[in-house]
Amino acid sequence: MVTPFQLAGHQVDPGQRRVLQLALAQLYTQSPLTMPLEVIHGKHPGPVLLICAAIHGDELNGIEIVNQVLARINPARLKGTLIAVPVVNVFGFIHKSRYLPDRRDLNRCFPGSVKGSLGSRAAHFFVDNIVSECTHIIDLHTGAIHRSNLPQIRAKLDCDTTSKMAESFGAPVILDASIRDGSLRSVAESRDIPVILYEAGEALRFDPVAIKAGTRGILNVMRTLGMLKPTATNKVKMSPMIAKSSNWIRAEQDGLLHLKARLGDRVSKGQNLGFISAPLGAETCEVIAARSGIVIGCLTMPLVNEGDAVCHIASFDAVKQAERSVERFVDELDIHPQTF
Ligand SMILES: [Zn+2]
Repeated sequence: MVTPFQLAGHQVDPGQRRVLQLALAQLYTQSPLTMPLEVIHGKHPGPVLLICAAIHGDELNGIEIVNQVLARINPARLKGTLIAVPVVNVFGFIHKSRYLPDRRDLNRCFPGSVKGSLGSRAAHFFVDNIVSECTHIIDLHTGAIHRSNLPQIRAKLDCDTTSKMAESFGAPVILDASIRDGSLRSVAESRDIPVILYEAGEALRFDPVAIKAGTRGILNVMRTLGMLKPTATNKVKMSPMIAKSSNWIRAEQDGLLHLKARLGDRVSKGQNLGFISAPLGAETCEVIAARSGIVIGCLTMPLVNEGDAVCHIASFDAVKQAERSVERFVDELDIHPQTF
C-alpha cells in the first residue's frame, strides 16, 4: 500500500500529480520568489527520482527536457515518485545568468547552510526540502555560454546503480568524472544517492538534439529503475563509450577562430582542426589536436583570446568504437550530424 508523499509540508496522494510553488526567498522589491516544481506520486511503490535543471540559470535545454518528460508520465502507471524541478537557480534564470545575484555559482554552494550567503541558503533550501526526499538524481546541464557539448553523461562509475543509470541513459559518451566540492553531485554522494549529470548543447539556446536525447535518456533510466514499464523500443541498442580522460585545446593566439571540427567528429593526434586569423592580414595559427579522440565540446563563437578553450576532446581506449557509438546515436535520433 502506497502512502501519500510529503514534500516541504505539501502532500501528494498516490496516483496524483501536483504543481507546487515553494517559497524560496524575496526579491529586494520584497516580491516573493518561489521555486516551481511538480511531483508525480505513483500508485505503486518504487524509487523517488529527482530530475532537476538550470542549477546554472542560463542552461535552458534541461528545462524543456523536464517538461517533455512530465508530459509522458501517467501517474496511474508510475512506480515510485518523480520530483521534477525545471529551474533550481531561479535567481539566475530571471537574469538569464549562470550565476546568483552575488556572482556565486550555485553548483559550488552545496550543501549550504541556513545562515550562509544567498547561494549557501539557496543550496540548503534545495537539499533540505527536495534532495532529502529522493533516492536517485538526474541533474541536467548544458555547455557554458558560446560553448556547445555533445550529449554526454558525467558520473562517478564506482557505484553500480550510478553506472547502470549512466549506461541506460543512452548518450553516446560517458565521462567517468570526479566530483567537485560544493556541487549537487557532492551532496548526493555524501548521502549515498546515486546521481548522474547530463550535459548537452549550449547555454541560452534550445538544441533539438540535446532535448530529444535528454528526454529519451531520462525515460530510459526510469525504465531501468523499474519506474516505467519496459517497452519494445527500450532495448538499449548501443553501449555508450566511457572516456578515459578529456582535455580542452586552447587558442594559441588572439583572433578569429575558423573551426572545422564539429561535435562528434573523430580526430587524430596532430590533425588540423581549423585556424585562428587576425582581423587583417594573412597571418594565421593552426588549431592542432593534441590527442586522438572524439570532439565532445566546441566553442561556437569565433572571437578568441590566447588561452581560450576552443575544442574539448575525449580520449578512449577504442576510439573507432566510440565513433561508431556517436554514429549510432545520430542514426537513432534520426537527426543529421550537421545539425549538432
Ligand atoms: Zn551547468
